[in-house]
Amino acid sequence: MENKKIIKLFKLSAELMELHDENAFKVRSYINAVGALEQVEEPLEDMEQAQLEGLTGVGKGIASKIVAINTTGSFEELDQLLAATPPGVVEMLRIKGIGPKKVRAIWKELGTETVEELLEACEQNRLSKLKGFGAKTQENIKQALLFTQQNRGKLLFAEAESSAAELLQEIKKALPAAPVELTGDVRRLMEIVEALQLVLGTDSPVEAQEALNKLEVLQEDEKAAGPFAWRGVHTPSGLKTEIKLVPTARFANEVLLCSSAPEHLALAYKDNKSLLSLACGKGYASEEELYKAAGMAYVLPELREGTTEVQLALENKLPTLLELSDLKGSLHNHSTYSDGAHTLEQMATFCRDMGYQYLGISDHSKTASYAGGLREGDVLRQQKEVDELNKQLAPFRIFKGIESDILGDGSLDYDADILATFDFIVASIHSSLNMDEKKATTRLITAIENPYTTMLGHPTGRLLLRREGYPINHRMVIDACAANNVIIEINANPWRLDLDWRWVQYALEKGVMLSINPDAHHTSGYDDMRYGVLVGRKGGLTKEMTFNAKPVEEVEKYFRERKEKI
Ligand SMILES: [Zn+2]
Ligand SMILES: [Zn+2]
Repeated sequence: MENKKIIKLFKLSAELMELHDENAFKVRSYINAVGALEQVEEPLEDMEQAQLEGLTGVGKGIASKIVAINTTGSFEELDQLLAATPPGVVEMLRIKGIGPKKVRAIWKELGTETVEELLEACEQNRLSKLKGFGAKTQENIKQALLFTQQNRGKLLFAEAESSAAELLQEIKKALPAAPVELTGDVRRLMEIVEALQLVLGTDSPVEAQEALNKLEVLQEDEKAAGPFAWRGVHTPSGLKTEIKLVPTARFANEVLLCSSAPEHLALAYKDNKSLLSLACGKGYASEEELYKAAGMAYVLPELREGTTEVQLALENKLPTLLELSDLKGSLHNHSTYSDGAHTLEQMATFCRDMGYQYLGISDHSKTASYAGGLREGDVLRQQKEVDELNKQLAPFRIFKGIESDILGDGSLDYDADILATFDFIVASIHSSLNMDEKKATTRLITAIENPYTTMLGHPTGRLLLRREGYPINHRMVIDACAANNVIIEINANPWRLDLDWRWVQYALEKGVMLSINPDAHHTSGYDDMRYGVLVGRKGGLTKEMTFNAKPVEEVEKYFRERKEKI
């Protein structure tokens, strides 16, 4: 099991113990273990008891539990806790904004054991009467429940991607002679995947269906399936799955049809002719041939959204999209100075060893006390360490930054003399998220107009599948960034992917640069930059318009000149 998954089991155990009101010291020991395990780079699954005990902060007890996880996938205490908790109550632990203590009250005092009952209790205004809950908490819980209900059965792209790749391999193994391709949400790089879709070329669909039904990872839904479409569930991911079975001669046509937004297919490329009518006609050998027949350049699946891509393809002016290898550094990252898992030095050397030229460190600011935000003294202490590390690690460069909270009135939360000490400032909203569009937009624009703001962090604060973002007027926010020369980040954390790809094109039209920021709280977080690149590509982002595709000298010059203008 991956380290991340092992750590998750300990987190769950701590939550369950708190839920069952167990000894606080015992709960603490699990939370401490989580902190210690997050520091471990080597795979825990390869370690023996003695080796595990040698890790800092890992005692005998935790070590033996890891050994148990490595052999059985779980450990006894966790199994007992789960057995003593109704599954619906375990599910409640995932509701944003309530901790185990509140869940305990809901379970024990309200006698509610499923999320459906909890939603009913909210609707009947019973939850607000429980001690420690008010009308506001009730409303928040209700919204969170409705949100998750809507999103059940969907997965983040980052979670669905590997499942899709595994399924593709399984099918290729089972039907080695048949052409098969992933289509749908995954191929179009959608941020949320609602279903796995594939197209399989076969001239004997009955046999193909039989072969698919033999795959252990697939569970057929007989009612939904048809002679030319296998339908059911991919059991490891829980995603609905559809595999279209088409004659080999029509394979490429169907792949194109299933990998494009309807708006893309509907756009006319000549007179009344659309790609839809073309793809429904005679069979082509490849998608490339099909676009060629339409007299246009090949359009990558991620761009097939029906915006400007057909026109651009006709004029052969499609952008050369950003690649992960274009990125030269990583801005917006956290260290142990605030809520990161690794020290500044660890974050810097890891980033350097990945081949990057620079790291922008931007820990949380003082208002974010829940995340260990930096007080003024901490800021100066960190900057001194940056100076020392920059001497040691040159030519690698650490830029001094901060993720400054945008306060309720839109101001940043340090005085100007402290703000002036940073090379760059990422301004983000983390608190009072319940705002209407006008309030949120004004709050952001005030921060954008602050001359110290270099970058706007995660513009809407959304957490995909978990929490809707606050509503903002994207157009006004992007216009303000253009007017004030503020970069917008594409927060590359798979839960965020914020700025949304649907607004990338507008930002580019306005000349606003975008930065692919991993918001890493752990050295493994740098890998998320890949998801940010995919989102950028989907919006048509090029290397030229990506701020962290600039080499270190240019970034240094940009930050310096921008500060001189204040
Ligand atoms: Zn943030
Ligand atoms: Zn952050």
